[in-house]
Formats: sequence, C-alpha cells, structure tokens
Amino acid sequence: MVVEVLRLGHRGERDKRISTHVALTARALGADKIIFTCEDNHVRESVNRIVENWGGDFKFEVVDSWKSYVKRFKENNGIVVHLTMYGENINKTIDNIKENIKTDKNIIIIIGAEKVPKEAYELADYNISIGNQPHSEVAAIAIFLDRLFEGETLYRDYDDAKIKVMPSKKEKFVILEK
Ligand code: SAM
Repeated sequence: MVVEVLRLGHRGERDKRISTHVALTARALGADKIIFTCEDNHVRESVNRIVENWGGDFKFEVVDSWKSYVKRFKENNGIVVHLTMYGENINKTIDNIKENIKTDKNIIIIIGAEKVPKEAYELADYNISIGNQPHSEVAAIAIFLDRLFEGETLYRDYDDAKIKVMPSKKEKFVILEK
C-alpha cells in the first residue's frame, strides 16, 4: 500500500512552517509522499534534508492540477480520504477504511490550510473528522496515520539513515553513521 498526502491551499511564506510540519509528520507517521499544488523551496529543502539524514524514500512533489492527480489516483486502485472537521468521525469509519484497503489499495489523504474547495469533498471516498472541533492539519494527519497503521510506524527506522536515535529513559543517545 502506498500512502500519499495532498496539501491543499499552502500560502507560501505564511504557511511554510506549518506546511513543513505537515510534511515531516506525514513522513514520520508512515506516508510515502507529500504533494503540494505550488512550489515551495523552503519546504522542499527541509524535507530533502530530513530524508538525507534520517533515511527512507519520502518524496516531495508539486502537481499542476490536484483534481486531475486525485482522479488518476482513484482510477489506479486508490481511495481518497479528506480530513475535515465536517466529516464522519474517524472512530466510526476507520475499520471500514482498513477493510477497503485489504484488497491492496493505495490511499491519498487530502488536508487543507484554509477553506477547502467543494471538489475535495466530492472526490473523497471518505470525508473524515478527527473529532468535530477545529484544530490543525498536523494533528489531523498524525492521528489519522497513527490509527491507520495502528501505532506500527512509530517504530520505523531506515537502513540508509545517517542519524539514528536509540530510545533512552534518561539521556539523548544518537548514533551517527559514516
Ligand atoms: N475552516 C477550515 C475548513 O473549512 O476546513 C479549517 C482549516 S484547518 C486550520 C486546516 C485543515 O486542518 C483542514 O483543512 C483539515 O484538513 C484539518 N483539520 C482541522 N480540524 C480538523 C478536524 N477536527 N478533523 C479533521 N481535520 C481537521
């Protein structure tokens, strides 16, 4: 299964920090790719630097038309999840999504920055809320991925990493590969 995250409505300078956090959270919690609808060199470089040092194959990509991208994704055995506070509660829907992906489907997860266009709601197979209170795209993507992977991705590390953390109760313990 491939898991991609589509970041809608990134507003350049204003959003560069939170969009970087969205990308790094997506990577850390198990996604394979983050897709933006406009170039942002700051975010791209931050993602590339993390991948270079911490390993793995997480990708940053920019697409011209997110609607065409999502439609093609759906045609290629993909399901579309849109995270929105207006959607159905994740507690009620996650089992259905997991059942659906047993047939080797891929997932694209749409998250917004500001108001999300109605086409996102229409293209989505699932409009899912992480509770119906407004909060943050970073929290939404983290909780969704954690539920999807049932906590497993929190143990992930990468053979090609230059930096690895050894979990410790008392100290910072980091291994630096040559
Ligand atoms: N008012 C905006 C709207 O109409 O969606 C909310 C913008 S919110 C700052 C940015 C993004 O965070 C949303 O597009 C959604 O992806 C995510 N988000 C925020 N709260 C959420 C919730 N309770 N459940 C799921 N996603 C949420």
